[in-house]
Amino acid sequence: MDLGIAGKWALVCGASKGLGYACARSLAGEGVNLVINARTAQPLAEAAQRIGDETGVTVVAVACDVTTPQGRAEALAAAPQVDILVNNAGGPPAGDFREFSRDDWIRAIDANMLTPIELIRATVDAMIARRFGRIVNITSAAVKAPIDALALSNGARSGLTGFVAGLARKTVAHNVTINNLLPGMFDTERQRQFTAVVAGRMNVAPEVERQRRIASIPAGRLGDPHEFGQACAYLCSAQASFVTGQNFLIDGGTYPGTF
Ligand code: NAD
Repeated sequence: MDLGIAGKWALVCGASKGLGYACARSLAGEGVNLVINARTAQPLAEAAQRIGDETGVTVVAVACDVTTPQGRAEALAAAPQVDILVNNAGGPPAGDFREFSRDDWIRAIDANMLTPIELIRATVDAMIARRFGRIVNITSAAVKAPIDALALSNGARSGLTGFVAGLARKTVAHNVTINNLLPGMFDTERQRQFTAVVAGRMNVAPEVERQRRIASIPAGRLGDPHEFGQACAYLCSAQASFVTGQNFLIDGGTYPGTF
């Protein structure tokens, strides 16, 4: 299916690896030019080179911390226009909520709630004026079913979800949609780190915890980031103009509810 977005420009944050990279790669596969961002220059430059070589689109790499005002300004300035915005940044640390200080909470809210809101604020009016915009926020399955060790993520991402639920119903009349993609367990570096943290707490080897996690997924495996990227590309497609304010859970059947 031709997604009808070739030649558009996307800003994809947190895109040197993992789910952000997968979203960038899938959009590039549809002919979308990219500004990709991550904090560390070398892996980001390699990711940009690989995506450009594989797809032929223009890929601009901006190494910066997207959770800072300066980082966001640099990323935004690198795109001639932002037709598609994929919000993403590293997730907050795991731990018991008693261990977290007010500063820890502010950092989590800054990264996983206020940064996406700031980037939406910076881009949404121009999207409305052009009568095309697609915004996808990478959040977490924790929004639908809280994850015990991820109190910071449960809280901050739910705040973003509530905000988006309101705005998405305003922008859709202008062909600007805003949706959230909720990853379950995907095979990325973040997943490996989190698995190691949980294994350490339970005093078992990381591979034991990894297998325990896989056994909890009805699909019998971790998600492949490419599967996630393809869902992102669909939400950014011309055809998805009637889909807004949704929380699209991709978790291999892990969430046990009927709805
Ligand atoms: P990852 O660690 O594999 O990749 C994160 C990417 O974001 C990297 O490119 C990193 O350089 C970049 N990044 C991190 N902080 C940044 C910042 N401040 N500014 C710019 N770039 C930054 O992580 P992932 O597994 O791809 O996860 C992406 C998001 O999805 C995270 O917020 C994570 O918590 C969430 N998530 C992931 C899973 C999973 O199973 N992988 C599950 C639920 C939620």
